[in-house]
Amino acid sequence: MQLQDKIFIAGVVGAGGAGFPAHVKAKSKVEFVLANGAECEPLIHKDYELMLHFPKEIARGFDLLIESTSAKKGFFGIKEKNIKVISAISEHLNGKTELTKLGDFYPSGDEFELVYEATKRLIPPAGIPLDVGCVVNNVETLYNIALAEDEIPVTKKFICVAGAIKKPSSFFVPVGTSFKDVIEFAGGPKLSEFGIFVGGVMMGHLTFDLNEVVTKTTAGIIVLPKDHYLIKRKNQPEQNWHRIGKSACDQCSYCTEFCPRYLLGYQVEPHKVMRSLGFTKTGASVWNQMAELCCSCGLCTLYACPEDLYPKEACDKAKVEMREAGIKFVQQKEAKVHPIKEGRRVPLPQLIMKLKLQDYDVEAPFNSKILSVNNVKIPLQQHIGKSAKAIVRKGEAVEEGQMIGKIPGDVLGANIHASIKGKVSEVTSECISIES
Ligand code: SF4
Ligand code: SF4
Repeated sequence: MQLQDKIFIAGVVGAGGAGFPAHVKAKSKVEFVLANGAECEPLIHKDYELMLHFPKEIARGFDLLIESTSAKKGFFGIKEKNIKVISAISEHLNGKTELTKLGDFYPSGDEFELVYEATKRLIPPAGIPLDVGCVVNNVETLYNIALAEDEIPVTKKFICVAGAIKKPSSFFVPVGTSFKDVIEFAGGPKLSEFGIFVGGVMMGHLTFDLNEVVTKTTAGIIVLPKDHYLIKRKNQPEQNWHRIGKSACDQCSYCTEFCPRYLLGYQVEPHKVMRSLGFTKTGASVWNQMAELCCSCGLCTLYACPEDLYPKEACDKAKVEMREAGIKFVQQKEAKVHPIKEGRRVPLPQLIMKLKLQDYDVEAPFNSKILSVNNVKIPLQQHIGKSAKAIVRKGEAVEEGQMIGKIPGDVLGANIHASIKGKVSEVTSECISIES
């Protein structure tokens, strides 16, 4: 069986956050394959720990992908500061692969940034790495590809639990495990009133619901006191973000000047999008178009704006309005890297200070014990594409690794597998619950 078919059966998706089905990338033909080990979300260290403890498996997944795509070369992106990881990974890389050493900046893990750093090619506006002969995979995806080659499906997720937690750490958990169980496994919270950033403080979402579950794309969870600056900022009603922005934005354009996509040469100009807040819907689209190529990295809102406004959220809103109105912005001018790009990069330690996270900026060492739970709730949609269709019924006994949600034929999506052995206790159109 070909690698792409094994990956499809095993339900491997991009583990870095996007959840793009990995078999699609494995069947493409490209010049370069890139491994993304840049990890730049503050406090999250799961890729670092995975590369340190499983370099052989990651390098194997990488080699398999280079072979299946007929790539002539691989680039492995790692931060230059991670000396121990560079040494662990280097031992297993073959002659076709070059290390791309990256600075400690945010967002060095953005694939537009990584492709440019490694190959000096710019992905066309609104394009994908494939447009410039590349595919990019997060290191955990490569680890899962190595398992898929041995016909082991994705049933566990490697996550980092950090912040106001007694034992910040990184470990494997069964997909579908509740945040409550995960937080307890990391020693419990340091306080009774807290919120949780899922996937990171910059690009993740905020929740107070301990029954939310880990999916194939959960990179980590950051626990913070309920009165922390970031929770207070994020927990404002959405209309406040835009109402305050409408009256207080003085068009200083710092949000645009620090925008990593703007600095790469794309027409992303959040200060112009802020203008749209003061317009009626008929006039707003003129400015909203400057949001189309925004990657929602959050830097404008959480770092650049001197007035603590919400330009990223204005861009998110603009993108939705543009989609609803059927307007698609097409950048006419060629993307060209801004001459000041290097001087405007945001060092991670500086970002951590700005976010008031310095007290939580500690290591999250690997805990080799696998969290064992007696119930999981596994979403059928953990990926880009169509939702998987349940193929088990309530009351049915399932084995760990058994396929329980299937994607038919040529449809874009990913299969879902039981993450623990037990009995199916509930099946809905959205998830399958299993109790052991
Ligand atoms: S940085 Fe803040 S105040 Fe300045 S233009 Fe952007 S949103 Fe407005
Ligand atoms: S979130 Fe802000 S800084 Fe990031 S890409 Fe979008 S506009 Fe640029």
